[in-house]
Amino acid sequence: MRLHEYQSKELFTKFNIPSPRGHLASTPEEAKLIAQELSGPVVLKAQVLVGGRGKAGGIRLVKTPDEAEEMASKILGGRIKNLPVRSLLVEEAVTFQHEIYLGMTVDRQKGEIILIASSEGGVDIEQVAQSKPEKISKISINPLLGLRDFQARDLASDIEISRKFWRPFILTTQNLYRVFTSVDATLAEINPLVITNENRLIALDGKIIVDDNALFRHPEFIEKRDLSAEAPEEAEARKFCLSYIKLDGNIGCLVNGAGLAMATMDIIKHLGGQPANFLDIGGGAGAEKVTAALRIILADDQVNTVLINIFGGITRCDEVALGIRHALDEIQTDKPFVIRLVGTNEHESKQILQSAELETADTLHEAAEKAVALAGEIDR
Ligand code: GDP
Ligand code: MN
Repeated sequence: MRLHEYQSKELFTKFNIPSPRGHLASTPEEAKLIAQELSGPVVLKAQVLVGGRGKAGGIRLVKTPDEAEEMASKILGGRIKNLPVRSLLVEEAVTFQHEIYLGMTVDRQKGEIILIASSEGGVDIEQVAQSKPEKISKISINPLLGLRDFQARDLASDIEISRKFWRPFILTTQNLYRVFTSVDATLAEINPLVITNENRLIALDGKIIVDDNALFRHPEFIEKRDLSAEAPEEAEARKFCLSYIKLDGNIGCLVNGAGLAMATMDIIKHLGGQPANFLDIGGGAGAEKVTAALRIILADDQVNTVLINIFGGITRCDEVALGIRHALDEIQTDKPFVIRLVGTNEHESKQILQSAELETADTLHEAAEKAVALAGEIDR
């Protein structure tokens, strides 16, 4: 789950990382009041979960409270990069001499946390990474040992900032590392971390992604989840507790159990096909959940064939069959289905599906072969 900039900055404040003074506004009047309170020029920042807001017109500098109100009325209710703007962060404008990049993320291969920094921060950091990779410094942190003082100092010396900024940079790095671990983040980023004209280090922007698998430990974020930037099918899957991951292929898969789902994808690939998704309905799923799963699969335009592979144990085949029937009653589709239902109440499930005249198979291999053949034919 990605946090909004204002949420990231609340965390920064809690962990002693300086950021500009400011408040959240959801109406132009509020924006004006905040601008009055801050006095002096302010920056209006659209709170949308997408990068590059600055270039897309989502970051505006204004000089007076009246201008703040007028500009806020233009941005609020509109869209930035096609996402609705429901609130603005109104902050004192900061004048700076330099933009630094500082970020940390998980290196899954090494099982470590990787810290990344560059003296060439700002809106074009991706370009810097490509054209001047030597300007990007990285260090790996063993999560069991944590970030050591000398490592933060190494990073400071590596990115070539003046020695007088080493201490605040090291402190910011250590504090960001605390933010990162305390919220179970997969990414924590300050870009830009600026050196102001008064020689202070301040976080002008913040981006934090919290690991979805750790959200149960952070209920305060779940309440504030903003779904507008997420794929609607992923939100729907979450609602029904389905594990769903969209992929690029054309064979939609509905399977019970993560291992079986992986095996199903493997055999599709092995036979020359391409799975359109990973979808595990879990153990003991009822008809309603199966219907929801099919709704999600069929909403994907890339899907041209559906493969249902159920090995009934706790999951009853008759419940799955009912779910398929409901889905077919509800959703008009001419996409072919291949169904393999074996195990608990297999016989009952066949009766339920008899009239639907769907292609069936007894083994996973046979089912995958049929699905791959159908998907290939349709594509041709
Ligand atoms: P992003 O485009 O979504 O990454 O949004 P940022 O918050 O990073 O803002 C983009 C750019 O706007 C920054 O790199 C700064 O150059 C500029 N910017 C943001 N806030 C201020 C500010 O208070 N004063 C000035 N002068 N520039 C700002
Ligand atoms: Mn930024």
